[in-house]
Amino acid sequence: MKAPNSIPEVLDVASIRNQFPILNRRVKEKPLVYLDNAATSQKPQSVIDAISDYYTNYNANIHRGIHTLAEEATLAYEATRHAAQEFIGAASPEEIIFTRGTTEGINLVAYTWGRQHIIPGDEILISAMEHHSNIVPWQILCEEKDAVLKIIPVNDHGELSMEAYMELLNERTKLVSIVQVSNALGTVNPVKEMINAAHKAGARVLVDGAQSAVHLDIDVQDLDCDFFAFSAHKVYGPTGIGVLYGKKELLDSMPVFQGGGEMIKEVTFEKTTYNDLPYKYEAGTPNIADTIAFKTALDFVKETGKAAIREHENNLLDYATAQLQQIPGLRIIGEAKEKVSLVSFVIKDIHPQDIGIILDNMGIAVRTGHHCTQPLMKRFGIPGTVRASFALYNTREEIDILINGLQKAIKMLS
Ligand code: PMP
Repeated sequence: MKAPNSIPEVLDVASIRNQFPILNRRVKEKPLVYLDNAATSQKPQSVIDAISDYYTNYNANIHRGIHTLAEEATLAYEATRHAAQEFIGAASPEEIIFTRGTTEGINLVAYTWGRQHIIPGDEILISAMEHHSNIVPWQILCEEKDAVLKIIPVNDHGELSMEAYMELLNERTKLVSIVQVSNALGTVNPVKEMINAAHKAGARVLVDGAQSAVHLDIDVQDLDCDFFAFSAHKVYGPTGIGVLYGKKELLDSMPVFQGGGEMIKEVTFEKTTYNDLPYKYEAGTPNIADTIAFKTALDFVKETGKAAIREHENNLLDYATAQLQQIPGLRIIGEAKEKVSLVSFVIKDIHPQDIGIILDNMGIAVRTGHHCTQPLMKRFGIPGTVRASFALYNTREEIDILINGLQKAIKMLS
């Protein structure tokens, strides 16, 4: 690929960067170049302020109080549910369950829907590029239920084999749980087509949206997925809060997850009746401050415009890919036709961690290692990769700094 000479400015990146205070800090006496956005994104000042505003001005427990602070906190908390509903195109706020993040969302489905529906001999289909959080809950369930975990293979470009997928689907397949965007390769999977095929085979589908929610337009009704899980912290929001979307009829008919306050209607020692959606799945005092600030993050993305963000990030990806390809001995892992915003690579037989340490000394933050996708690394016969992942505040100049840093690292390590 030939390097584009310039990146068209689709975003006012300078003014966006001003909204992210952490981008002004220095690391090892160098300006921070933050390229680890797939692990977690940085937070704009508005999100940081929303957290402290809650604790400063209206800290109270939600839903149960009738006093002013409790009402203000409840309103703000529920406003996030509406914002999240709009963000992923869900039909109603009842379909938005707040969780700690993607991991908890997937586990919730495994422990409730999974325990209710999976019987011995059933098959659960995942892919070879899943994050550990979309592997282990299903392994636990399959072990408990004597069910079988089947794996959709990945080709050398880092794309799913759709042919193999179609062959794997059969009347024993009860669930397909699939990542929409791979955190290790950047591959965008054709989830709509996959959901359609799974439904024809009679299977339910969970989409792991941890990486896709920030980059792609999500419309769960158009996708027709049964469940969709994502984390706020990868969408410029706080850690410790995420969303599990589920179709209402499914959530209604599933057993409860955790027991406690908030998820009940009435408790006696003989019997407990459960609350309506979405509270049925939200036991205990939730993460109120971070949930409230999550709306500020969603507002920030909406105001900036997802289409412009995506265009900017695609431009960065094209530029970075073209530059990386010029480096002798560098091999990009994951060359799917459809990719977003991250590039994984290995250089000769240099251990990724050694590169990461040298880059860190230059103020450059990348991720190195297996990215919680050990089976995928095994598939490619590597211990791990160096991964640079981009967000709306990254610039072409930062990619130049990365390339320069890599060239220096190679010289030092060869
Ligand atoms: N799935 C994918 C594809 C991810 O990238 C991640 C986070 N690295 C997760 C699931 C888990 O998300 P969390 O740690 O926020 O629960």
